[in-house]
Amino acid sequence: MRLLILCLLIYLGYRLFKKLVLPEQSPTTLEEQEALMRVDDVMVKDPYCETYFPKRKGIRKVIDGKAYYFCSTACRDKYLEDADHPKESSSNEK
Ligand SMILES: [Zn+2]
Repeated sequence: MRLLILCLLIYLGYRLFKKLVLPEQSPTTLEEQEALMRVDDVMVKDPYCETYFPKRKGIRKVIDGKAYYFCSTACRDKYLEDADHPKESSSNEK
């Protein structure tokens, strides 16, 4: 009978131990944060005026499930005007 209680205590102790140990392994390490910063700082090209600019400063617009970045709202609007006339281009990038 005491063996059962002992097993239970060991099990509870093990769970407590895991809880104490696991938080040290934080999912957001400094490396991951730096990687996110780098992605954020990437240069993208405006598809309308073909100017390069930092992605974080661009205006994001999703067209047909693809994200486009524009240097200004004016470029975005003009690009959308052009895209208004659908072209028969079925280029599936793989
Ligand atoms: Zn532009």
